[in-house]
Amino acid sequence: MSAKQASKPTIVLFRDDLRVADNHALYAAHETGKPIIPVFILDHHPQHGRGPGGARLWWLHHSVAELSDRLDGLGAPLLLRRGRQNDVVRQLVGESGASAVYWNRRYDPANEADAELKRVLGENGIEAKSFEGALLHEPTQLTTGAGTPYKVFGAFWRALNNSLHPRDPMPAPKKLAGFNDRKLQSDTLADWKLLPTNPDWSTGFDEFCKPGETAAHEALHDFVRARLQDYGEARNFPGRKGSSQLSAYLAHGELTPFQVHQVVNANHAGDGQGFLREIGWREFNYHLLFHKPDLHLSNVDKSFDAFPWQSAPDALKAWQRGRTGYPIVDAGMRQLWQTGWMHNRVRLITGSFLVKHLLIDWREGERWFWDTLVDADPANNPANWQWIAGSGADAAPFFRIFNPILQGEKFDGDGSYVRRFVPEVAGLPDKYLHKPWTAPANVLAKAKVELGKTYPRPVVDHAAARTQALEAYRSTRNGP
Ligand code: FAD
Repeated sequence: MSAKQASKPTIVLFRDDLRVADNHALYAAHETGKPIIPVFILDHHPQHGRGPGGARLWWLHHSVAELSDRLDGLGAPLLLRRGRQNDVVRQLVGESGASAVYWNRRYDPANEADAELKRVLGENGIEAKSFEGALLHEPTQLTTGAGTPYKVFGAFWRALNNSLHPRDPMPAPKKLAGFNDRKLQSDTLADWKLLPTNPDWSTGFDEFCKPGETAAHEALHDFVRARLQDYGEARNFPGRKGSSQLSAYLAHGELTPFQVHQVVNANHAGDGQGFLREIGWREFNYHLLFHKPDLHLSNVDKSFDAFPWQSAPDALKAWQRGRTGYPIVDAGMRQLWQTGWMHNRVRLITGSFLVKHLLIDWREGERWFWDTLVDADPANNPANWQWIAGSGADAAPFFRIFNPILQGEKFDGDGSYVRRFVPEVAGLPDKYLHKPWTAPANVLAKAKVELGKTYPRPVVDHAAARTQALEAYRSTRNGP
């Protein structure tokens, strides 16, 4: 390599991999010894895939701020640019004279833009290199015996485990060669106005998890040390902190599954395998998304295309605002709005309620979650919605309908979760907490609950809604 060639920088793209450690693209660029330009591009209207929702933008603001500090400290300041990724990269190559662009692979529809970028850069003599991203497996490499993608989780998980030898995570570089020869313009985070203002619904967001790579590692170690032991049991109870709360870190790539495997396997305690199986669902969902990029738009099981979803804007609004009259559903929807996160058990209950009790299309729920979850994930969100609706791969059958009263009583028996997020029914005894409309008048009065005034009556009757849902389902099986 000539001296001129050696001084030409490598651009490293940061997207859904907001980390310095176990970052293959960054590590490989560092190994070349050439100067590095790390860049994050805010692509609000990507050509392929969807832009982030509101809660993710909040997370992005804080996570990019920390990444920027870390890269500054290592000697290669992060450049912030806005626009279509491929246009911005081409412009930046021109401005900097970069001879290479490196990135970690994405497995959502945005990877089409990356494929195009690779082609265009190659045609212009620029080295374009992509590296394994945030999955334990490359979706192209794991197939059934017939050479087709897996559609059943159990078989996928067995195949993954049989072929899986998770590599050790890569260390964070101790120092990076920055590119300081020319003045490249960078936006500021403040320019981007990512934080919600009207209304600012983010004030409770950092209560459950704090954005950034440092907090991600603290959360992982904290979970493995203190809660992995009881994970299998405790993960089901929304009133307890029983699960890892790592989802937003994985979704933004502040943490990789390789790092999770390493820490969990080194611990040997408790329900490590059960926990890694959940991480396996994430792999499965990305596998699905890779092979079906329109997962958030169309049913995996095409027989659901004929499902008679109802247009019910008032009911949808009641669900979104946590005012359905079913306390466990309302607690979940309010937890989501207030904290940007919702417990898995309650995601199942609220999702099932929307789709089966209200007969509202799963895509409405998926869109709402996409906008309001800090861990909104292009694979996990639509795959789980389709799982609930029954239209997904290896999905729960539609006719399995959650009873929100029994679910509440079973998983929030002491009412700690509902009382926290639905304070207006907090004074009710446990016996009536999950079905306030059954409480005698004197009990309601004592608890200061006035149904229809301080707390809504149920938007639908459970038994009637169940019957209606089953009829709707049967109509798609037998025809009109
Ligand atoms: P833990 O129980 O500690 O699990 C550890 C990790 O395993 C999670 O962080 C996640 O990465 C993965 N995981 C756990 N459960 C699942 C699952 N069912 N499917 C796929 N991966 C899983 N998860 C998201 O990351 N983003 C989403 O947008 C998302 N949307 C969902 C929508 C619905 C309707 C439902 C029912 C579930 C959704 N999930 C989503 C899956 C699951 O609810 C969350 O991953 C989990 O609640 C996150 O909390 P945790 O990190 O404490 O989970």
